[in-house]
This record gives sequence, C-alpha cells and structure tokens, in this order.
Amino acid sequence: MKSYFDITGDGGSDVLGQVARQRARIKENLSGVRHMVAIASGKGGVGKSTLTMQIALALRAGGSRITILDADLNGPSQARLGGLSHAPLVPGPAGLSVPASRAGIGILSMGTMIPESQSLEFDSVAEGDSHIWRSTREFAALADLLATVAWGDLDFLLIDLPPGAERTFQYAEFFGEGTAFVLVTLPSALARGVVSRSVSALRRAPNRILGYIENMSGYLCPGCGQVKPLFPTADDVDLDLTHLGSVPFDPQLAALSDAGEPMPADSPSEALAATRSIASRLIQELEKTS
Ligand code: ADP
Repeated sequence: MKSYFDITGDGGSDVLGQVARQRARIKENLSGVRHMVAIASGKGGVGKSTLTMQIALALRAGGSRITILDADLNGPSQARLGGLSHAPLVPGPAGLSVPASRAGIGILSMGTMIPESQSLEFDSVAEGDSHIWRSTREFAALADLLATVAWGDLDFLLIDLPPGAERTFQYAEFFGEGTAFVLVTLPSALARGVVSRSVSALRRAPNRILGYIENMSGYLCPGCGQVKPLFPTADDVDLDLTHLGSVPFDPQLAALSDAGEPMPADSPSEALAATRSIASRLIQELEKTS
C-alpha cells in the first residue's frame, strides 16, 4: 500500500493547476459584476438575510441590477424571502441561469432547489465526517457556483453569509479582496461582542468594511405609538466602524418576509425608510472607497 510519503509532488493530480484554472474561470465569470458586497455579522438571527433582501429591494427600486447569492448553503433564507420555492438553476448558453423574484432580483439559493423539509447533505468520505471536511465541501460547492452560473451584467452581487466570526474571515479570503463587507448587529452587548470578534477577524483580510447596520433598534409599540427599546443598548462595545444606519423592529416586515413579499412602496414603515437610506449610504461608501 502506498503512503503519502511515496507520493512525489502532487501525485500527478495537477491540483495547483486546477485551482488556478478555476480561479481564472471565476474571475472571468464575474467580470460583469460591478460591486460584490457581503452581508455578515458573525452572529445568527440578527437580520442579515432580511436586511440583504431589503437592501436589494431598495437598490432595485433605484434601477440597479441585482442578484443575491445565499452563501448559507445549509440554512438558506433567500428563496423564502424572495417568494421562490421551486426554481432550480436552468442550464443556458452562458451557464446556469439564476431565477428571479417577482421584484426582479436574481436569487441563487439552495432554498430554490431543495424543499424546506429537507437538509442539504454532502456525501461523506468517512463515518463521522469532520466539520472541517463539510466546510471544505461548502466552499467547493460555492466555487463551482461562482464558476458556472451565468451572473451576467450586474450592479450588485449581494452575498448573504452564514454566522461565525472566524468563518466570516474565511469567506473574505474565499471571495477575495474585491468583496466589500457590511456587518449587521443588534444593539445588545451580546450581539455587538460577537460582531466585534468578526471585525477583528476581518481586519486580517484586505477587504473593505463599509460599516455596520444596527438592526432591531427599537420597536414601534402599536398600542402607545412610541418607539421603545427591544434590547439594552451597549455603547461600551465600540465597533470602530461607520454606522450605516439603524433599522427598527417592524412586525409587518417580519410577516411580509415570511410570506416572501416586499413592503408596499408607499408604506409609512420606518424600517422601509431606514433600509432605503442605508442602500443610498452603501452606494456612497462604495463610490468613496472604490
Ligand atoms: P439572520 O440572517 O441574521 O440569521 P434573519 O434575517 O433570518 O437573521 O432574521 C431573523 C428573524 O428576525 C426573521 O424572522 C426576520 O423576519 C426577523 N427580522 C429581522 N429583522 C427584522 C426587523 N427589522 N423587523 C422585524 N423582523 C425582523
């Protein structure tokens, strides 16, 4: 039996060549995309997916061409948020074509291909697959998508990232320095503490961090009409980032998100106004730094 010590070089696999070729294909395939922006946090449940969709809707209303890449392969949300359930990727002349929501936002999400009742499973190489192996498979699957999907000409490719502070850094490395980052937090010390870890991890990467969004910053009490705090505000955890805006908790937004419907354009919702203002701020920041 051969051991690793008997293998000289790459054993004839040309693994480095394969990686270089795939990188080149990805670069070429994404050449029509103007801005790549990852929406991250480190923390789960803070509203990354919801705000990714809200920002996409606001940018779309301004005439931009947008696709959302739901990088959370195992916990996809964008299919539901975009009101798409069964919409597989269809092969076309330029590659796999991305389904679009009724609002005209391209949505690449495992959720359009696999029903919510099923989890995404990667074939095992051994019993008790390690976490590391699974995450390697996830990155390989994402790389295949980046290389084979017909992204076309886009103003924005928004990437909805899964949680995990260290993973946030891994995604920065994976997508490369051309991808800018936006972090989402809640006002609480718990959430800001985790986001702070993500920021410190991200500072090791060359990627631009455009700033942070504070989500669920207060709740409009329907009974008394006042905005009340949902979480204790933790100003003592300094994120040392540009504050792009704050979005209040809006029960209508939660309900419409579950139903995969956008807010009516004339809604008086403060959350809608806040996400529109954040979208314009994002454009300003991207133009400032690019
Ligand atoms: P994450 O992507 O960070 O895990 P989600 O976007 O899935 O978080 O949001 C978690 C839950 O909170 C969802 O049910 C979503 O509808 C709700 N939610 C997020 N932000 C708001 C908001 N500003 N107002 C109302 N509900 C919100």
